[in-house]
Amino acid sequence: MATKTAYENLKERFAQMSNLQNAGSILGKDMETTMTSGSTNDRIEQITAIAMASHHLMTDPQVEEWLDRAESDASNFSSEDRRNLDLMRRDWIHGAALPADLAKAEAELSAKGERMHVEHFQSGDWSKMKDWYEHSFNIAREVGDAKKDKLGLPTIYDALVDTYSPGIRVSVIETEFAALDQELRNLIPAAVAKQKQQAPTLPLKGPFPAQQQMELATRVATAMGFDFNRGGLFAIDGHPSSGGSSDDNRITTRCKEGEFFFSLYSSIHEAGHGMYSQNEPLAWRYQPIGGHLGMSVHESQSRIMECNAAMTDEFIEYLSVQANDIFGSDPSLSAGNLKKHIHKVEPSFIRIAADELTYSMHVILRFGLEKAIIEGKLDAKDLPEAWNAGMKEKLGVIVPGNEKGCMQDVHYPIGSVGYFPSYALGSMLAAQFFAAAERANPNLRTALGKGDFQPLATWLHDNVHSQGSIMPADQMIKQATGEGLNAKHYLDHFKARYL
Ligand SMILES: [Zn+2]
Repeated sequence: MATKTAYENLKERFAQMSNLQNAGSILGKDMETTMTSGSTNDRIEQITAIAMASHHLMTDPQVEEWLDRAESDASNFSSEDRRNLDLMRRDWIHGAALPADLAKAEAELSAKGERMHVEHFQSGDWSKMKDWYEHSFNIAREVGDAKKDKLGLPTIYDALVDTYSPGIRVSVIETEFAALDQELRNLIPAAVAKQKQQAPTLPLKGPFPAQQQMELATRVATAMGFDFNRGGLFAIDGHPSSGGSSDDNRITTRCKEGEFFFSLYSSIHEAGHGMYSQNEPLAWRYQPIGGHLGMSVHESQSRIMECNAAMTDEFIEYLSVQANDIFGSDPSLSAGNLKKHIHKVEPSFIRIAADELTYSMHVILRFGLEKAIIEGKLDAKDLPEAWNAGMKEKLGVIVPGNEKGCMQDVHYPIGSVGYFPSYALGSMLAAQFFAAAERANPNLRTALGKGDFQPLATWLHDNVHSQGSIMPADQMIKQATGEGLNAKHYLDHFKARYL
């Protein structure tokens, strides 16, 4: 029997880790959807054991040896194997290259930070959290510093952003966010003023039974092309999400009694994530090159379905027909009235509850603040004042307390610095992809009016999903749309819809 090459060993090892991570994700989804509450402790032990096993497989000193050896052989690799090897090295840097004490401090952040956030955020009492925020930012800065040169990136903050959005540079984000910020300052008040001129919106007549809401969400997710033979949609009490593996993708939503928009649009969002996972390239399954391109591109696949497709006037026509059919005929379910609900713009405090137009301002604010803290230009302890000033400047709102301000998100307490940009980058990319898909299929919107997502889904499959990580994100974006990341498409989309 011939001995395996270093690269063959790596492929086998990365496939094992991929399967362990998928198994952990399925156990987590099962915990949210069907598991009885008495099983919680048992399940957390299982999920932790799987995460530990995967971590041990990555930190095993043999992996670094194999990487070194494979890299010295790589001149005769195919371009795809070379790319797969580069991604293995990147995963290893993020997962195993930190000094032991820093890796431990980082792991403690995520475990303890979440508990502290849950315990204190509702009080808005900054004195309880300010030292922890400072500690968390200090650890994040050390982590970025330790990874920056190994990843070949220019700044500490680039190294942090790379954890979530590989292939997208901070200098590019800065330029595009500045353009967006500038224009949104005019667009938001103009949209609000225009909506004030409209005839009043009819309130929805609830209650809407959960079973009927799930019927509507399932009809739409099926029309989108989510494969219910390799996944499922479940109603839960917690926060909607998606997880599992390519061939067993579990998405969740939550039903509120008085309206059906939340369950519907979060299902559409998560089904967009799910379709990206379901359509990863089969030939490279379980390898880094076969996986997704990071959180920005992932978020583009959910937002393109949620905002760009399912908020078009055409789709809302289709939605009105379905809603009248499922919930019973009512004037409040007319396409015109549904559109007023769905397109409502209102500056507010909470990012996750923000409408499409004001959403990016929440993210641009966080990007500027976290970058300033990492660069030492802002003291983490002064976050509330800087936050509140930013909210007033960007959205014209006065933050009443830190629970509605800088303490609302779990990201900073758990050390996820560099994550926030992916939310706005995803929405921006979604608009850019939608514009390209529409250029390729001029009848795309007409099709959405009939509940036909196929022109859009096929374009996404061919240009994004089936590409896995074969190209870095910036190259994939250029190949799919003919240009690099460009805020112009997002702004054009807003102007067409809201002005
Ligand atoms: Zn998402």
